Amino acid sequence: MSALKSIVEAEIKASGPMRLDRYMDLCLSHPEHGYYQQRQPFGAAGDFTTAPEISQMFGELIGLWLMHMWQEAGAPKRFVLLELGPGRGTLMADILRVAKLAPDFMAAAEVCLLESSPRLREVQRQTLGDVRHIERLESLPEAPIFAVANEFFDALPIRQFVKNDFGWQERLVGAGLVWVLSETVQRPDLDTEFAGLETGRIVEVNAAARAISGVITKRISKMGGAALVVDYGSFDGVGDTFQAVRGHKMVDVFTHLGEADLTAHVRFKDLVQNGVAHGFATQGAFLQNVGIAARAQALGGAEAALHRLVSASEMGELFKVLAMVPDSYGVIAGFENDT
Ligand code: SAH
Repeated sequence: MSALKSIVEAEIKASGPMRLDRYMDLCLSHPEHGYYQQRQPFGAAGDFTTAPEISQMFGELIGLWLMHMWQEAGAPKRFVLLELGPGRGTLMADILRVAKLAPDFMAAAEVCLLESSPRLREVQRQTLGDVRHIERLESLPEAPIFAVANEFFDALPIRQFVKNDFGWQERLVGAGLVWVLSETVQRPDLDTEFAGLETGRIVEVNAAARAISGVITKRISKMGGAALVVDYGSFDGVGDTFQAVRGHKMVDVFTHLGEADLTAHVRFKDLVQNGVAHGFATQGAFLQNVGIAARAQALGGAEAALHRLVSASEMGELFKVLAMVPDSYGVIAGFENDT
């Protein structure tokens, strides 16, 4: 039995069936045996390939979008350029390369990274040089914030609940690593959020995503700025989306503890808080709107990457882009004809 499996089984034996958020947290972030500490997740030899690892165009266009939003905000003399879950640091490296075109933007930016894995913090320092890692979002400098997150929110631990005729049952991980159901509990918050849901349906609750977006949206409302969140999911869908990926293939969620990436689809509606205005589009539509076709042509030889990023059969439809801006903001660049 793997070390992580023994740890999970021992905890279940001692305390009873384990909540799914605890299981995800142990598998992904255990300080010794966790996935992000153990594996090299990204790229062809890893478990999955993310948009910034496919092509520099992705980060460059996001960099230009952030620079545009900073201009629109009156070009504040000091701001936080924040990335959540930067992986290998590729996206931020591409953003900073285009940002060199605007020395005022660069001079005003304080780059901050939120990263839980010590191993990846080291990789990011190698890619980006001397950057500031923050432990907690609450310790962000008091300034407007321009933030980006790619495939970050899907990695945060979720809980799942099944609706029955009397209330809700939580899906838990039982001994031997199988699904078990809790007793029926009353959850007025879920009754309200998922009013009219049929009996037997599963809903997912991502408390960490709500908390993190709460801090960022509060900051945007109060001090100004913008956030761009790219991930797979939907605006307000329901259902079981918990999955494990290893070597670019879906695998069983209870088999490869610490050796497979565990994620759930992002419910983007949960992120829109504190009165921010938002834009929402597919990744394909957003990238087309901000000019990826022209960028691909200028680069040359980028047709395959363009296809992977924007076409509906690849990442273009499954991945969504959410922009969050202050309440008073008008039409958001890239979302002119959003849905
Ligand atoms: N944005 C990168 C990496 C995506 S993988 C890319 O697109 O390639 C998810 C990233 O989020 C990893 O860097 C992982 O270590 C980090 N991460 C996961 N959970 C986190 C948490 N709770 N706090 C901070 N970082 C986290």
